[in-house]
Amino acid sequence: MTKRSYLLRSYLFCHICSRRMSGETKHERTYYHCRKNAKNHAHRTWYAAHPAHIFVREDLIIDPIAQFFAQRIFGQARKRLLGDTLPTARQDDQLVARRAVVQAELTDLQQRQNNLIRELERLQPSGDSDVDEAWRRSIQSRFAANAAEQRAKNRLLAEIAREERVQAPLNIDLIDALPITAVDITSLPEDQQRRLYDAFHFEVRYDLPNNAVILRATIEADTVPALAGAVAEVHARHSPPTADRLGSGSSFRPAPHQDWWDASSAPGGTRTYASGDLGQH
Ligand SMILES: [Zn+2]
Repeated sequence: MTKRSYLLRSYLFCHICSRRMSGETKHERTYYHCRKNAKNHAHRTWYAAHPAHIFVREDLIIDPIAQFFAQRIFGQARKRLLGDTLPTARQDDQLVARRAVVQAELTDLQQRQNNLIRELERLQPSGDSDVDEAWRRSIQSRFAANAAEQRAKNRLLAEIAREERVQAPLNIDLIDALPITAVDITSLPEDQQRRLYDAFHFEVRYDLPNNAVILRATIEADTVPALAGAVAEVHARHSPPTADRLGSGSSFRPAPHQDWWDASSAPGGTRTYASGDLGQH
């Protein structure tokens, strides 16, 4: 199993700081690594909780991923697993309030930007060119600061919208669009794995304090036909193996208290979530 292409790099996040982990090879093994440094991160809320370096071995994450897709996406029992923890639709009042605040701030910024434009248009020469120039510059710099603030607020709004999608009600039936199959996704060629991981908005979070992984896949109503097409293509190309690694010697030991579904999900989507510890190593 050569994995030097760091296949998981696009999908693997550090659970403490939420940043992507980077690939590294040590002693012939592939690892993913997250580091912090005081210069860039000391002000972040996660800084104190984050060790200087976090490493996780790639081969230890492969089996949990294989199991996740085999059981919860393509397995016979997937719908029961989803149904067992049917969501209580969460309406996050805090999120709604935050969005209202950011929108009001944006409106205010736009208003102030308009005022600056008017101020610039109405600028009457004072007769002193240095004063006029300084005045004009001060308007321009306020304008630039305002524009930067608006960009930041718009990024915040996009982030809030993403969180709202994650919390919206679930359409559990979307999973029926996908075949029940014994294809082991982690044994597919890397380009096909990537294609499927991308289509599922696949995300792996490495939770160091618990030495666990949290796996998440999202099925969106708009993209489900394309997703089903991609899966069907892979399914047709690879006849299901009769025996595979999932039955034997897996290093993945789902811990009952940690193995859970969070079936709350995206609008018209299904978001499936599982976590389990990685065992001793
Ligand atoms: Zn981190």
